[in-house]
Amino acid sequence: MNEETIFSNIGTKERGITIKSPREIDAMRKAGEVVAKTLQLLTESVRPGMKTAELDEIAYKEILRLGAKPSFKGYLGFPRTICVSINEEIVHGIPGNRVLNDGDIVSIDIGAIVNGFHGDHAVTIGVGNIPSDKSDLIKATKEALSRGIAAATDGARTGDIGWAVQSYSEEMGYSVVREYVGHGIGKSLHEEPQVPNYGTPGSGTLLKKGMVIAIEPMLNIGSWETTLLDDNWTVVTSDGSLSAHFEHTLLITEGEAEVLTKL
Ligand code: MG
Repeated sequence: MNEETIFSNIGTKERGITIKSPREIDAMRKAGEVVAKTLQLLTESVRPGMKTAELDEIAYKEILRLGAKPSFKGYLGFPRTICVSINEEIVHGIPGNRVLNDGDIVSIDIGAIVNGFHGDHAVTIGVGNIPSDKSDLIKATKEALSRGIAAATDGARTGDIGWAVQSYSEEMGYSVVREYVGHGIGKSLHEEPQVPNYGTPGSGTLLKKGMVIAIEPMLNIGSWETTLLDDNWTVVTSDGSLSAHFEHTLLITEGEAEVLTKL
């Protein structure tokens, strides 16, 4: 499912760009902390032989223990707390009976709600020992996110973020996924503006202090084209090449953005 589909499902009222009040930003800091803590616990829990549903169970319990609610469970019918996407899976994999194997790379994406506001965060990690082509991809995707965050400041445009992510990623020899993008976030998990991981400097939506966005580069070793599996959620690379994904939720300020999903 692409972001266009998501937007068309949540209705026009929730689509606009919002500037958050200090009270709302405070709730978003708390939501960010919950997802960061939970994702850290998941990262520490990953081991070969584990079912992806076990990670989901850990996440669900931890989010509730921290006094929050999962954002994804029930969102447009998504059945679980986290998205788990392995190897050639890009995003939106559904946790289940699949077992994590030594040498896999796994993207874990998580969202939580505190006082009505969402936090959204993802990392890709190696399971057990991974070969260097996989660790290089993970390292580059993490760096691509950092480049995107560095470009996200009051007065910049979404195209500046996209260009920062794309130019670095392509220089490193990877492609960036086009059909799934970052997004505004707040009372709704997905708000305007869309934040593509490709673009032209100076183009796109103007970023203003008080906006909160999620930047989430997805890098592929092969081509950027994607295929949606029959479960209608799991997105894979069309050529079967490996993919990695990192995401942070951040507050736009006059200086460096404040990353809300960091401990
Ligand atoms: Mg997101």
